[in-house]
Amino acid sequence: ETNGKRTYGVSAEVPASACPLADEPSTIASNIHYHAKYSPHFSPFKFEPEQAYYATAESVRDRLIQQWNETYFHYHRTDPKQIYYLSMEYLQGRALTNAIGNLDIHDAYGDALKKLGHDLEEIVEQEKDAALGNGGLGRLASCFLDSMATLNLPAWGYGLRYRYGLFKQRITKDGQEESAEDWLEKFSPWEIVRHDVVFPVRFFGHVEVTPNGSRKWVDGEVIQALAYDVPIPGYKTKNTNSLRLWEAKASSEDFNLFQFNDGQYESAGQLHFQAEHICAVLYPGDATESGKLLRLKQQFFLCSASLQDIIFRFKERKGGEGSWQWADFPTKVAVQLNDTHPTLAIPELMRLLMDDEGLGWDEAWDVMTRTIAYTNHTVLPEALEKWSQAVMWKLLPRHMEIIEEVDKRFMEMVHTQRNDLENKLSTLRILDNNPQKPVVRMANLCVVSGHTVNGVAQLHSDILKSELFADYVSIWPSKFQNKTNGITPRRWLRFCSPELSGIITKWLKTDQWVKNLDLLVGLRQFADNADLQDEWASAKMANKQRLAQYILRVTGVSIDPNSLFDIQVKRIHEYKRQLLNILGVIYRYKKLKEMSPEERKKTTSRTVMIGGKAFATYTNAKRIVKLVTDVGNVVNCDPEVNDYLKVIFVPNYNVSVAEMLIPGSELSQHISTAGMEASGTSNMKFALNGCLIIGTLDGANVEIREEIGELNFFLFGATADEVPRLRKDRENGLFKPDPRFEEAKQFIRSGAFGSYDYNPLLDSLEGNSGYGRGDYFLVGQDFPSYMEAQARVDDAYKDRRRWLKMSILSTAGSGKFSSDRTIAQYANEIWNVEACCVP
Ligand code: PLP
Repeated sequence: ETNGKRTYGVSAEVPASACPLADEPSTIASNIHYHAKYSPHFSPFKFEPEQAYYATAESVRDRLIQQWNETYFHYHRTDPKQIYYLSMEYLQGRALTNAIGNLDIHDAYGDALKKLGHDLEEIVEQEKDAALGNGGLGRLASCFLDSMATLNLPAWGYGLRYRYGLFKQRITKDGQEESAEDWLEKFSPWEIVRHDVVFPVRFFGHVEVTPNGSRKWVDGEVIQALAYDVPIPGYKTKNTNSLRLWEAKASSEDFNLFQFNDGQYESAGQLHFQAEHICAVLYPGDATESGKLLRLKQQFFLCSASLQDIIFRFKERKGGEGSWQWADFPTKVAVQLNDTHPTLAIPELMRLLMDDEGLGWDEAWDVMTRTIAYTNHTVLPEALEKWSQAVMWKLLPRHMEIIEEVDKRFMEMVHTQRNDLENKLSTLRILDNNPQKPVVRMANLCVVSGHTVNGVAQLHSDILKSELFADYVSIWPSKFQNKTNGITPRRWLRFCSPELSGIITKWLKTDQWVKNLDLLVGLRQFADNADLQDEWASAKMANKQRLAQYILRVTGVSIDPNSLFDIQVKRIHEYKRQLLNILGVIYRYKKLKEMSPEERKKTTSRTVMIGGKAFATYTNAKRIVKLVTDVGNVVNCDPEVNDYLKVIFVPNYNVSVAEMLIPGSELSQHISTAGMEASGTSNMKFALNGCLIIGTLDGANVEIREEIGELNFFLFGATADEVPRLRKDRENGLFKPDPRFEEAKQFIRSGAFGSYDYNPLLDSLEGNSGYGRGDYFLVGQDFPSYMEAQARVDDAYKDRRRWLKMSILSTAGSGKFSSDRTIAQYANEIWNVEACCVP
């Protein structure tokens, strides 16, 4: 004891030993002690939870590195076709629980830490989330990495090592406040810096014609890409793949010592500053020209470094100069673009093949197009990337030449082979030469160049084929596929809800479901069994209690675990319709106020939790956050109703928070305007955890409902094919709002939730105000059917046995949504890659 504060020292009974790969808790404890003692990060006299976390993580990392090296050598020796997944985002979350779970050493590490006076549950909480992503797309990339390793597929992810990940969200009296998320504040024990893996990436400059007529991109600024590898272990397998994250650096030659000594500090290190900006933050604001340029630089930096590395490895595995044929490249390399952010991989691969390797256009095109495939993640026009041609010419002059050539050849093909499409060429072309604003359409470049284009849920893929890309489908019908998203059952059930997992294993009499999620269907036969239902209820209750403690800790509000836990967590966006949810809550609150105490007692008590981050410049999304918190402040303090309704804004939603919320959820809301959510993946996580969904027929909801049965899904709302007509009707004044909808809005306008000016937000639901398109997301249209679905939820919850049965059937029907299934389909139907199991 020092000054009343406990400092932990490692017990003398546990010797420090470097031996990393033991399974015995006592030897593991020695290894953790070794790291605590010899890692230079902390004072050796301290062994508080934070130090214990770092020492534990380093001990686990030793094992990962061992497997990771074996995997690398095995792939090198056998030279299989390898997948390279290019993504601007990875939402990895915490790594410790996942690593010890996948390596099957969870209990041994728990026991080892006990010997050292620590509790594993407390230690894992010390880790900061690696939040190098924004939402579903980034989390999908991380689930895919887990599945690729688990399926023993030779696969690497490539991304950027952002210094600050997605911003940290704090809720103040003014609403959301953002600050930098410093995930590297201390250091990350999960990455290995690779000083031997560095590639130059050029920006700006110009194109020269060499004496032999070829073209060369020269001058400009050159920044170095330095690799950081994060080992990705598969579940109960030796295969440990890599997530390679690039960091931008300037070289020492770019530091002008003369200028520095002359006091010109800024200009002396100018390239160092430029480099620092590239990986400073994920999605820097792009309202300014410099912001746009920075985003483009980030995208190119990822593509160029990754492709140079891929080509280097291809040659290395072939064993030296002259031993490879470029035509074989696509038989060894599959590159998947996670949305359009890495589109520049297309012209960059063409450039590397033509300008550095000396291939002609046709040969390079053949190699590139057999290598690269593209996943589309959105049909929202504002999210389909378009880059200014002027900015592109400035930053990437050689790539613009290549893009122009692709565009020209595409037009020639249409002229000669498909003159029925001539009148559509202006939208099908890659270049949009509108003189006001000439741009490059990145999605068009991907569709024209990639060998395969896929959507991420059946409905979304159908919309791509019948609307967004319909004319391309008529040119290349076999290019388009669907790959319904999935989630890893390890992180999203086995590790985040050990209690429920234990029950599933007990009733299925096997734990093989963790690797073969289809086995969950075996629970169906027990859905009516009262013993299973009681065990199920007690596991759910334990998760709800854990969640209630968390909510108390982060918000100060006490919630009742016996109430229905109703959760909507996802990025705040008007199309996701958190506004529909909160308007429903407001109506419910108003009606509760009007009821007698006896009537209130007959209602279903609910705790409504809403969480998610609003992009810093998205004003209406921030207003929605403010409204939810204002409603919570009023409702939670209202003694007449707060036994029947609580409203919580869950701050700083991220992967770790999701791992706490999802197991404790009973109802979750996936209520986007039909046709607008490409897939959703949190819907799958909730369903897998026995949480019932209230939702529209949008994205993967459609398939979830099919799999778990329509009786177990609270459906409401317009369908995707009705939406265009309903929007037209609104414009023509044919829409009559439901009186309940009007009442809820009026209640806000009356000042019931404070004096903040909500009029702009409410106006966006009316007439032709807001974005000039009046309730574009059809909140008013769907409000009555939403309220009716919510009434069905209230009724169902009153019948405990019925609810538990539905909950079990939800888990039982979730087998399809394993990312193992999704990845197996990508491997067979897009990549043509086979497993390569490390012996
Ligand atoms: N953000 C985080 C932190 C997540 O964990 C997830 C999915 O679980 C998402 C966003 C995506 O959510 P949704 O599919 O609801 O958009």
